[in-house]
Amino acid sequence: MQAEIIAIGDELISGQRLDTNSQWLSGQLASLGIQTIRHTTVGDDLEGNIEALRLAARRAQVVVLSGGLGPTLDDLTRQAMAVAFDRPLELNAESLEKIRQMFRKRNRDMPERNQIQAHFPQSSLVIDNPYGSAPGIDLTVEANENTARFFALPGVPAEMKQMWHESVVPRIEEMLGDSRGPLRFHSLKIFGIGESDVEVRLPTLIERARQPSVGITVSRATITLRIAGRAPTESDFQQLIAPTVDEIHAALGDLVFGVGEQELQHVVLDALRAENVRMATLEMGAASWIGDWMLAANGDGQHFAGSLAFPTLDSACHWLTGQPVVSDMDEATCAALAQEVQRRFGVELALVSGIYPSIERMLSQDQAVPTFHAVAFGSSLQFLREELGGHPDVLGPRIAKSGLDAVRRVLLRLPQRS
Ligand code: AMP
Ligand code: MG
Repeated sequence: MQAEIIAIGDELISGQRLDTNSQWLSGQLASLGIQTIRHTTVGDDLEGNIEALRLAARRAQVVVLSGGLGPTLDDLTRQAMAVAFDRPLELNAESLEKIRQMFRKRNRDMPERNQIQAHFPQSSLVIDNPYGSAPGIDLTVEANENTARFFALPGVPAEMKQMWHESVVPRIEEMLGDSRGPLRFHSLKIFGIGESDVEVRLPTLIERARQPSVGITVSRATITLRIAGRAPTESDFQQLIAPTVDEIHAALGDLVFGVGEQELQHVVLDALRAENVRMATLEMGAASWIGDWMLAANGDGQHFAGSLAFPTLDSACHWLTGQPVVSDMDEATCAALAQEVQRRFGVELALVSGIYPSIERMLSQDQAVPTFHAVAFGSSLQFLREELGGHPDVLGPRIAKSGLDAVRRVLLRLPQRS
């Protein structure tokens, strides 16, 4: 089974807006085991839409459309489907009532124009839209000895994604008709090792024909191993993948820090909660990555007290001593900073993390720079130093993640990475 994606909207071809829906949909289709063979982007133009629809109908078995389902005159997806496949639009009374109700709930009268959104090409199925006024269209057509099933979804990414998960995925699963059950996923998150080192330690893991299959992706120094397999129930799936999960843990040990969507900040926050410890951070020379992540992940405000960010070590030392100073990065300076963070925030745990002397120097010299982390926990102090290089877009988050990982290791009583 192969898929095509058609993104519809003038804003997409004029350069005003990036077509993120197609990228997202391709990833989703791949996770169902379906290859996407083409992306097409068309404006809000009837002829262009009809042509794109007819071409896709001859080549693909699944065609996902996004955009053009609104009530305004430039929204032409339903009309294009009707004309392209000779399926006149028909009123669906149930959909009309749902759209009316949605307006009622928002204390508004339904504008006459919205009637069009309750019209569907003959013999198509409705795809419910719980949050917007535009239902989607599910239409199967025959063209050139090919059967193509079209799923037309609204362009608004949040609505499109929800309808995809709730309505389209189950219908595609049914089309795939795999008796082993739906494709399920389990991800393990890894930090502190490179992608190629993972392959060295687990040489047969990423093989294409392996069952369950394992995919590897890297995002800003975090590696995700995504295990995929078909199973009728979640517990059958857990059984199926257990040997693979064990193999990964045996090879990577405490480099595996989490599962699913977990990032280091979530794991650190969980550990802070479990130990009932409060933490504050001080970052130097890159950006306030750790502070931003912790703030965004912090549910209750109980275990993260706050963060400070300084452009350079000197500015941090100025904050510490009140004097204009030029310091070298050493354990004593780091310890003094960490203890001051503990004192000022009134927390048990302080993380000091950064680049020495600053990211500008690294950029200008294009070479590895010393990075450091100090974790003060009660009266104990861990000081870590590593030479790191790389593109600043990756280096900044990588330093921040090293700092969070050092905290994770302190809280979970794991050895620090050497
Ligand atoms: P529409 O369903 O065509 O009315 O689109 C509604 C809004 O969704 C547009 O104004 C865009 O902001 C957004 N949108 C539409 N298509 C896409 C796309 N392919 N990728 C990202 N955003 C989109
Ligand atoms: Mg549009």
